[in-house]
Amino acid sequence: MENLVLLKNPRFIIDMMYARTNNMVGRAVYKDIGFGNKAYVHKDVAAALLKLVPILEEKNLKMRICDAYRPPIAHKKLLEIVHFQGFFAATPERSNHCHGTAVDVCLTDKNGHNLLYPTEIDAYEPQFQKQVCAGDFSEFQQHLKKARHDYMEASAEALKNRDFLRALMESYGFESISHEWWHYNLHGWQAYPVIEWSK
Ligand SMILES: [Zn+2]
Repeated sequence: MENLVLLKNPRFIIDMMYARTNNMVGRAVYKDIGFGNKAYVHKDVAAALLKLVPILEEKNLKMRICDAYRPPIAHKKLLEIVHFQGFFAATPERSNHCHGTAVDVCLTDKNGHNLLYPTEIDAYEPQFQKQVCAGDFSEFQQHLKKARHDYMEASAEALKNRDFLRALMESYGFESISHEWWHYNLHGWQAYPVIEWSK
């Protein structure tokens, strides 16, 4: 837990998706392990995210935080439920969430309504959750193409919002990944070790 800090600011909406059941595993894994709806991040990530606050204020936007630090024990449970290769990193060591150096985010309006994006965060849809948890990945795999930064078939507004989020995050010390528009790693993440969680 050393180096982890709790993210707290009126401009951040803490809505950890694995603390609720409407997510791709269909279970509130973070609640099951006693972690709950808490957004911990490495203190360097917190410092970078807090620099966004004046921009969010100026634009009258908020940021929804749907995942941040993920306890390795939670990552193992997610992997047990969903076996789809490449959706969850194969080990906690390989997930930046377990290092406290990754966040899954989108921007919302001042009332907390998500702006339009090509998919939901995690490309979540209830029907895909049921299929994926039953071991059928075919339709979800197709849908995941829409989560890529090079997917261009969405509406102009969705593409504009996705690209604005990326520009914003990349200006403030984060790196995007090609296949998930919502996921950002702290620049220099390679230097940060996995953090074990203790209650
Ligand atoms: Zn992520």
